[in-house]
Amino acid sequence: MIKLYNTLTRKLEEFKPISDREVKLYTCGPTVYWFAHVGNLKTYLFEDVLKRVLEYNGYHVNHIMNLTDVGHLTSDEDSGEDKLEKGAARENKTVFDIAEFYTKHFLEDITKLNIEFPTKFVKATETIPEQIELIKTLEDKGYTYKTADGIYFDTSKLETYGRLWGEKEKTDFKSRIEENKEKKNPADFALWKFSPKDIKRQMEWASPWGIGFPGWHTECVSIGVKYLGTPFDIHCGGIDHISVHHTNEIAQAEAAYGNLLANYWMHGEFLVVKDNKMGKSEGNLVTLSDVKDPLSYRYLCLTAHYKSKLNFAEESIEGARISLNKLREKIDELDLSSEPKNSELKEKYENQFLEYINNDLDMPKALALTWDMIKDDNLSDKEKYDLIQDFDKVFGLRLKQEKLDVLEEIMTLLRERESYRKERNFEKSDELRKMIESKGYSIKDEGNNFSIKKER
Ligand code: AMP
Ligand code: ZN
Repeated sequence: MIKLYNTLTRKLEEFKPISDREVKLYTCGPTVYWFAHVGNLKTYLFEDVLKRVLEYNGYHVNHIMNLTDVGHLTSDEDSGEDKLEKGAARENKTVFDIAEFYTKHFLEDITKLNIEFPTKFVKATETIPEQIELIKTLEDKGYTYKTADGIYFDTSKLETYGRLWGEKEKTDFKSRIEENKEKKNPADFALWKFSPKDIKRQMEWASPWGIGFPGWHTECVSIGVKYLGTPFDIHCGGIDHISVHHTNEIAQAEAAYGNLLANYWMHGEFLVVKDNKMGKSEGNLVTLSDVKDPLSYRYLCLTAHYKSKLNFAEESIEGARISLNKLREKIDELDLSSEPKNSELKEKYENQFLEYINNDLDMPKALALTWDMIKDDNLSDKEKYDLIQDFDKVFGLRLKQEKLDVLEEIMTLLRERESYRKERNFEKSDELRKMIESKGYSIKDEGNNFSIKKER
């Protein structure tokens, strides 16, 4: 049994997928106008762990992630500029170039973090007709009205608006500043924005209401429904999406289709720096290129529950790097030819691991269990290695024995260096050492022997 915390009910619930074998998962993707910061990546890592846990339990996960390449405004309200158009003006490029550049960067980041790619990435601009269709449905059902700058959703028409809110979100919402005086209710949100008359937008489309572009909240509903149907199983994002973005997604689905779009809504807590959320406007951004070993950031995120805040500091990332390297060293020392010793104990570890990960993704406990297991003398080295390989399907830390991973090319260089060393030609052997080091390995000479290690 998998238990997941559902923001919709504010309870830990038994997960019951719509179909027996497949889980339909939607996760809100990036707005591709800037580099992802490690805070954003914490959320994608939590979603990746969720997906891996579902896969570990035998489900096939049909996972859709959108790429917002149009229409996400610089504020969460309906004012401000389109982030993509703003990025294009800033960098003197086309919006299409901006989207392509930052999408590529995002894909590189998630690859470095060993985050599994979704079944499909869907760009907002690929589903404009579906978004227009959804707005037409909402219009036909009487949920929309027009102002000078766009078509809005009338939240007063939906009695259940704000279903996702707890006390915190209600308070957050009260602090919103409204700039569009024509809005009937503060919570109303734009479904379609008209292109400004005085500025030529690079991305705009014809619609029954005039030339313009869709609102951000409409994008995720249309994409989710198109690829997963409605309701689907799980919808995820960071906690900042609870009060506005996901609330407005649910409102549209409820008004248009009479359901809540997804059965389980899950949200990851923030990455913070000295108690402040990491964010662009907070001016405390760290990107993955600032992190020495990307997988050590993955390790750091595994040390905290996804619903807990995680502090990002030089000491915490360095601590994670040291721990991960220690774990790698322990794994490298395991003798894979050892005989099985205690299959009962091995099974006990397997069961405990499953219990932790299925309890709302308790990765800190799963990680602590792994350390206990690796130090447990009652298991053979091979048993430990097999368990690690199994657990790593969820951890995603690429915990393979490094010594098995020395490439053929490095082996050749090593053999050559050895023969120079035997001839006492230290100049040549040093040259080869440098070549080997430039390929990311370090060599330690110990008398006539040597050891080699992959550098992190
Ligand atoms: P955005 O591009 O702003 O829509 O953010 C992309 C994802 O990152 C969303 O799911 C956000 O909720 C999440 N996010 C933004 N800031 C943070 C943070 N400091 N910590 C964790 N997740 C965040
Ligand atoms: Zn979304």
